[in-house]
Formats: sequence, structure tokens, C-alpha cells
Amino acid sequence: MKAVVKTSPDDQNVELRDVEPAPLPPTGHARVEVAAAGICGTDLHIIDGSYGSRPPVVLGHEVSGRVVEVSADVDPAWIGTAVALETFYSTCGACEYCRSGYPNMCGNRLSIGSGVDGGFAESLVVPLRNLHRLPDWLDLHAGALCEPLACVCQSLFDPFPAVKPGDRVLVTGPGAVGLLAAQVARAAGAEVLVVGAERDLGRLALARELGLGTRVVPVDRDSLPPEWTQGPDVVIECSGTGAAMRSGLELLRKRGRYVQMGQTGDLVSVPLALVSFKELVITGGFASTPASWARAIRLLEGRQVELSPLLSGTFPLERWEDAFAATQSGDGVKFVLSADPSNR
Ligand SMILES: [Zn+2]
Ligand SMILES: [Zn+2]
Repeated sequence: MKAVVKTSPDDQNVELRDVEPAPLPPTGHARVEVAAAGICGTDLHIIDGSYGSRPPVVLGHEVSGRVVEVSADVDPAWIGTAVALETFYSTCGACEYCRSGYPNMCGNRLSIGSGVDGGFAESLVVPLRNLHRLPDWLDLHAGALCEPLACVCQSLFDPFPAVKPGDRVLVTGPGAVGLLAAQVARAAGAEVLVVGAERDLGRLALARELGLGTRVVPVDRDSLPPEWTQGPDVVIECSGTGAAMRSGLELLRKRGRYVQMGQTGDLVSVPLALVSFKELVITGGFASTPASWARAIRLLEGRQVELSPLLSGTFPLERWEDAFAATQSGDGVKFVLSADPSNR
């Protein structure tokens, strides 16, 4: 089958290849025909070698599809089911993190799309526990956004809910993660403003279509609504830029909460003294836990979060380079790859 493969650990070395589909283990696994696999910033870091991987490996960790084959001990009723996939393929199961429900922190974790073959292919094999049923009404391509939604839930509700009913929440960065975080914050009862730069005007228009308020940088107290004069209760930083991190900490009200979701490999200078002066609480999240997946699926089923509007385009596997270029361009929100784009 065709697959987008990282062939060696160095910078680049990614190509469309013919690979043998993985064998199906005799117990506990399913083969999923991929409908769509989303491209995320992590993929760009895996390609440039700044995020670890075990080449040769098929990329792609934001996966939706249908179960087409199951191990002998698995209920065959799974076959034909539309699913999204949790990303952990295997963990040690014995460390303190695994034992306490945090497989995302396991030092021996192997994930699809970096440690084992992922979703930029016609199919992949995953443990049964990774499958999450998708609602019938959902466009299967949009289902690939369940994975970043689970990551948002991890960052916003663990170790405690960062957003509470009635909170005023500023989300910086209107990419896929920002627009998911804004919707989840609203579902948690918050009033939400999404902040972007001039280059994000299209994404901010989409935020308004989703019913969210927007602002263009630079944002100061005066450009916030009059009732926000003390500053937001919560800043959810999703842009990964130093400027947004700094201004987020400065804008926050006293005893506010700051959640870091945007990623940068750069050292960033921020006014950390404000954490003590204003008694701020800073949290973040890495990937997701089974509990965060459960919450994400419930938000989706309850239509409290919309995924389909965030889907900007589907590219066939052969055009993976165009899809990555589109992702890097900043136009659109989420692009996905599909071996058969008509499969949705
Ligand atoms: Zn990702
Ligand atoms: Zn472990």
C-alpha cells in the first residue's frame, strides 16, 4: 500500500513509498482503513528531526477511519465501525504514570505516526483500546480532529478545570487547537475571545462564524470589552509565539489561570515575576489521556464542539507535500491526507 514514510532520523527524508501493511496480531487489535489523517505541527517537527521518531515509520497521528479487520478474540461487530484513534500504540504499563492513568507521560511510550506506523497510509493496525466510535452524522474526514480535541481536553481539565462557568477566556492563536480550545472553553460556560494576527483574518472570520468573539493583535486592556477591565480570568495560549505568551501573562487578571498549548522550540523571555505578583497559575498538557478522549467524544456527540468547519481541505496521499505546504502557509485551519478522498 502507499504511505508517507519518514525514512531516516535526519532532517527531511520523507517520501511516498509502497509498504507492506502491518500484520494483524492474533489478539486485541484492529486494522483501520484510514479515511483521513490530519497534519499537525508535530509532523513538521518529526520531518525536520526536532521531534523524535523511529524511522522507517509511516507518519500521521490524527486518524479517522473504519475498522476493516479484527484479531480473532475481538468482537467482529466492530467491523465497519467509524472510529477515531487514540495515539498510544504501546506503553510500559508498569511505571507510576501508566499506573495512574497517564500513559502520555510514560517514558517507554510508542505512538502511532512516530514510534510505530501511523495514518498517512491506506490502513494501520492499532490496539482495540485505541478505538473511539464516531457519531454517524459526522463527516469522517472531520473525525481526524478528535485527536487535537482530546489534547485540548487534556490541557484544559487536567490537573483541574482551568475554565469555569462565567470565566472570561482569551485564546491566543486561531489555528485548529485554538479554535477547538475556544469551543471547549465556551462549552465549559466561559465567554471567549479569540486573538489572531493580521495574517489570521480568514481564521478569525471562521471563529466568528462559530459564534466566538475575536480581536486582532496587539491586544491591550483597552481593546477588550469594557467588562473585562480587570483582564481575562484565563488565557489559553495556542500560538506558540513569545509575544502572545508575554502579553497573555500581562493581560491576565490577578489570580488568573494561564494554559500553554502552543509549541515553540525557541527559548522565550516572559515576565515570570507576574506569577508571584498576581498569584497566577500556569498549566499545560502533553498529548492526551484516555479520560481526555472520553470527554472529547462526549463534547462531540453533544454537539458542543464543531469539527467540520475546521476542516480546510483533503489532499490525496500523493500530494502530501502540497498538504504540508498548505499547513505551513497559515491559510486554512486543518488539512488532512487521504488515500481515497472520496472515502468519508
Ligand atoms: Zn498532533
Ligand atoms: Zn509507563
